[in-house]
Amino acid sequence: MQIEMPRGANYIIDTLKQAGFEAYIVGGCVRDAVLGLKPHDWDITTNARPEQVKRLFGKTIDTGIQHGTVTVLVPKSVTLGEVPYDFEVTTYRLDGVYEDHRRPKAVTFTGALSDDLARRDFTINAMAYNHEDGLVDIYGGQKDLADGVIRCVGNPEERFSEDALRVLRAVRFAAKLDFTIEDDTRMAIQTHVLDLAFVSAERIREELTKLLTSNHPGRIREAYKLGITGVVLPEFDRMMEQEQNNPYHCYSVGEHTIHVVEAVPPEVHLRYAALLHDVAKPACHTTDEKGIDHFYGHPQIGTKDAVKILRRLKFDNDTIRKVERLVRYHDYDIGDTEKGMRHFLAKFGTEDFPDYMKLRRADMAGQSSYRLDERRAYLEKLEELYQAVTSRGDCLSLKELALSGRDLMEMGVPAGPGLGRMLDKLLTHVLDHPEDNNREALIKYLHI
Ligand code: ATP
Ligand code: MG
Repeated sequence: MQIEMPRGANYIIDTLKQAGFEAYIVGGCVRDAVLGLKPHDWDITTNARPEQVKRLFGKTIDTGIQHGTVTVLVPKSVTLGEVPYDFEVTTYRLDGVYEDHRRPKAVTFTGALSDDLARRDFTINAMAYNHEDGLVDIYGGQKDLADGVIRCVGNPEERFSEDALRVLRAVRFAAKLDFTIEDDTRMAIQTHVLDLAFVSAERIREELTKLLTSNHPGRIREAYKLGITGVVLPEFDRMMEQEQNNPYHCYSVGEHTIHVVEAVPPEVHLRYAALLHDVAKPACHTTDEKGIDHFYGHPQIGTKDAVKILRRLKFDNDTIRKVERLVRYHDYDIGDTEKGMRHFLAKFGTEDFPDYMKLRRADMAGQSSYRLDERRAYLEKLEELYQAVTSRGDCLSLKELALSGRDLMEMGVPAGPGLGRMLDKLLTHVLDHPEDNNREALIKYLHI
């Protein structure tokens, strides 16, 4: 087998070998290349120690020096502009004692590639390659790739007790590749799933995000069945358990949620907005005298819940802000007039409106066919209203008002909260009457 690798990876491997060391590409890139997928990063493993790697290459970064990882920046004269030009080079290592099912406390470097492959989680992730030796596949990774199987390297019980994150990684690789989890591995997952509670939020977030943004995010069902979401996202379990007896719905909240997640593009904020848009439905559930279920107020409560969950997962503020807004307005009644659309955009902003429509379309696709045409037509109408309002350049924010705070102060309005209220009043007026967004009309409106 021959794997084509980027110029930079070839250069690093050649340089290390010429200096008398061993070097291979390893892990995810080998797996993806064997599958014919495009690897997104190329990791290199070597018996050279980090100091030796640093001595051999001009530009390096101490990425995780205590774990033996150095990033090598390959010069342009070698890559000829090809990306990537930065490669993580990690010394062969044995992972030492794992503390609290988290990270290895200390790592020990080793001289044997086989040791380094043995510490890796799944057979499909435990292969190495260089042009001279070809594929090094000690654990049957190639066969498992061909059979579509996720299987632990070695004893699954031990591997999950060393690092419980692997429980979630098993499902995320199953979702990425649409593979099945081998029986012994699956059984050991069930034994160790509660240990996930000891794993750091950041590591959980990374894997959960990869699961959700994969081509098969519906595999979160499996995470639910295995008890994984019960630990890392118990709110999802509540959704799976919440039926909806309502003409608009043909699924439980959880099943509906999965449909919506699948129907939005694989971008982090959209997938999480889809995942969390109905998160408060279980808490807001009431049943009327006809036996119909209602979930009044769920977008508002759900907004708070979504923020709480994303904070718990240590998400960045930008993602939290985007998801928060999408959840808050996912069910909002914009009405069917340009005026309604202007008021909505003043609150929501225009920038993320295309994302908003993606979520609303996906939300609709995950509902029953009851009055579907009508609802589809409504979303078309919203698009039209948006086009009309934005292409005409209607004023939608204080920034675009024909009178600024400074203008008002020059006219003698004192600075302070009164000025802010006056500007808000002007904006509300202009949202109702866009033709009035000029100095004259606004001054007249204010009777100054
Ligand atoms: P992706 O393409 O999604 O990045 P990947 O296989 O590169 O997949 P990473 O999380 O980047 O996954 O890890 C790189 C490699 O390191 C894996 O292929 C695996 O060999 C090893 N590895 C990563 N995390 C663990 C872990 N928790 N336990 C054991 N081995 C791991
Ligand atoms: Mg990777």
